[in-house]
Amino acid sequence: MGLREAKLPGFILTIALSLLFTLRSEALGMFWQELLVWFGASGRLHHVAMNISRAFAMALVLFIVLYYLELRYGVPTNQYRTRGFLHDIFWWLWTSSGLNRIIFTSAVVGFLTANLSPYKLNLLDRVSAIPRYILYFVVIDFLVYWVHRWRHANRFMWAFHTTHHSQEQLSFLTVLRIHPVEFIFNDLIMIVPLLVVGAPPQSWLPLYYARVIIEDIQHSHLPWTFGPLYYVFVSPVFHSFHHSIRPEHHDRNFAVALSLWDFTFGTAVAREQRPSEYGLADIKTPTLMSSLVVPFRVLRQTYSLRAQRQRSGARQVVR
Ligand SMILES: [Zn+2]
Ligand SMILES: [Zn+2]
Repeated sequence: MGLREAKLPGFILTIALSLLFTLRSEALGMFWQELLVWFGASGRLHHVAMNISRAFAMALVLFIVLYYLELRYGVPTNQYRTRGFLHDIFWWLWTSSGLNRIIFTSAVVGFLTANLSPYKLNLLDRVSAIPRYILYFVVIDFLVYWVHRWRHANRFMWAFHTTHHSQEQLSFLTVLRIHPVEFIFNDLIMIVPLLVVGAPPQSWLPLYYARVIIEDIQHSHLPWTFGPLYYVFVSPVFHSFHHSIRPEHHDRNFAVALSLWDFTFGTAVAREQRPSEYGLADIKTPTLMSSLVVPFRVLRQTYSLRAQRQRSGARQVVR
């Protein structure tokens, strides 16, 4: 497959889809809420069922749109008939249903909002709505870029990030294949600076949804490079290098929305043919359980190797 470029139409479609899904999230939520009330669900079960059905509906709509586009571009669609895709359906429902956040994050956000108020800088309070959204978007994206680099550089963080990278059958659902431990760290790292800057959740939640849709599209097989905007915005081709199995692509293309961070800090892969193989050469997760426990296996190997090295270093000193 050559490097087929869909330049501006791809970029415009990405923006249009993310806007559409951001705007519709409320309407769709209300529709499902009505439907579930009608079926007689109540209380906590109702909340969880509503979130799961919402996540499922969102995945279904995205699947129809992205599958249709992938067929039209003649790019691989066999990822949807693999076991890996079934695993990602589980990860998607688990993560986007909010089940992983109910217990931990909501409690932490409540605690931090109350305790960080003396440190709030309210930097963006006097900025009007649209520039404020743009500023949030750029600030969050800059943070995400460095946090993502840290996840690759730090051994502990990398162990939990392997769940995301071990997927060999990349699809739009892979975006939420994130280990619960990684999610906790992610939420903490992202929430604290935003609260200090003075960003209430109402300000960044719509952006959060927009980012999730943008990331879904990036994990698809669409051949979009966004033409000259490849150097500014993350396209599906740009992000595909981040998942490539080839060693020369490792620790490259960390950015989530703005590829200019990678080009500025020297971690970008120049535009070339999209890789055809994804995943990690030395870490395999053939089952759903293995994708959940793989971080602990990686940690055990990392620390036993380190202990071995320390022991042999100590022996050399004694000699
Ligand atoms: Zn990564
Ligand atoms: Zn990814």
